[in-house]
Amino acid sequence: MGLAAVAPRSTISARSMRLDLVNTWTTVMSSSEYRETLAVTVASGGIIGIGEAAPIVRYNESAAAGIQIVEGLKPLFADADPSQYAKLLDQVFAKVDGAWATKAAIDIALHDWAAKRLGVPLWKMWGLDRNDAPLTTFSIGIDTAEVIRRKVREAAAFPVLKIKVGLTNDEEVMEAVRAETKKPLRVDANEGWKSVDEAIRKIKWLEKQGVELIEQPLPAAMLTETGEIRKRVEMPIFADESCLHPEDLPRIAPYFDGVNIKVDKAGGLRQAMRMIEMARALNLKVMVGCMVSSSLAITAAAQLSPLIDFADLDGNLLIRNDPYDGVRVLNGKLVLPSRPGVGVILRAGAPR
Ligand code: MG
Repeated sequence: MGLAAVAPRSTISARSMRLDLVNTWTTVMSSSEYRETLAVTVASGGIIGIGEAAPIVRYNESAAAGIQIVEGLKPLFADADPSQYAKLLDQVFAKVDGAWATKAAIDIALHDWAAKRLGVPLWKMWGLDRNDAPLTTFSIGIDTAEVIRRKVREAAAFPVLKIKVGLTNDEEVMEAVRAETKKPLRVDANEGWKSVDEAIRKIKWLEKQGVELIEQPLPAAMLTETGEIRKRVEMPIFADESCLHPEDLPRIAPYFDGVNIKVDKAGGLRQAMRMIEMARALNLKVMVGCMVSSSLAITAAAQLSPLIDFADLDGNLLIRNDPYDGVRVLNGKLVLPSRPGVGVILRAGAPR
């Protein structure tokens, strides 16, 4: 038998997924009708692992670039055993600079493969109790008062809402929300406020409106300024854009009360797990958030939810063509599937 006839030990492939949004989604950063995510498949020994992550435009990532990167990793995977996924991920990280969402999609596909191989759900492979999963928020994007009021009514099933602010109409947004509901709120400014004084004024005002935490009030680099705010307000301040990867945590910890960890920006479940452990050691509260994506990426991130204080895992609820069925939300609480691996299945009629 010649070399050409030797079957690869594993194969890897990638494609983009176009996800259509239910509502045009506006934050400080962008406004859009659809999103493109990167889907990765790892196959070996008759087992197929699948992963997904959302390339983040802010960090110059795209699904097209991710597909090219995965193409270049085919020789590595042809020679690799995915049950040794920790070593394989080290090799992927050594080869690929940046491209955190691409690495996240690969990491999820490998975790899915490994847990399917063992025949257990990922949360069980990690020794977690799925009943420990917290409530998840439903996010309301920046919009006109009328649309915000409608979105708040549509989110009746969620006991906690996350409100996006940071443009010039914060008062209008909050008034519209409060005209519809008395629920506890979490607010994300997405770096939208530009000075310490503005942020303190806004946070003190939000403290009177039943808001339990504020995410990223100032631009990512303004750490000492965020520390100033923290001394002068009661509300816990969470980092999102200020904290991307494990190595950022010791640097940002003195200036924040908590951190919003995202699998897509961290570079996968393993990186996110490292961040959770580091945040705990640094006495920070932990939120796991998400990008707009299908139930594949959201269910993968939700596997971490028994370890965290706050979940913001609603990115799959913002799209109208989700190909997968996975984590569910029951009375606002995340319910992890009992199927092996990440635990998603294709919905009937979904394109393969
Ligand atoms: Mg955020």
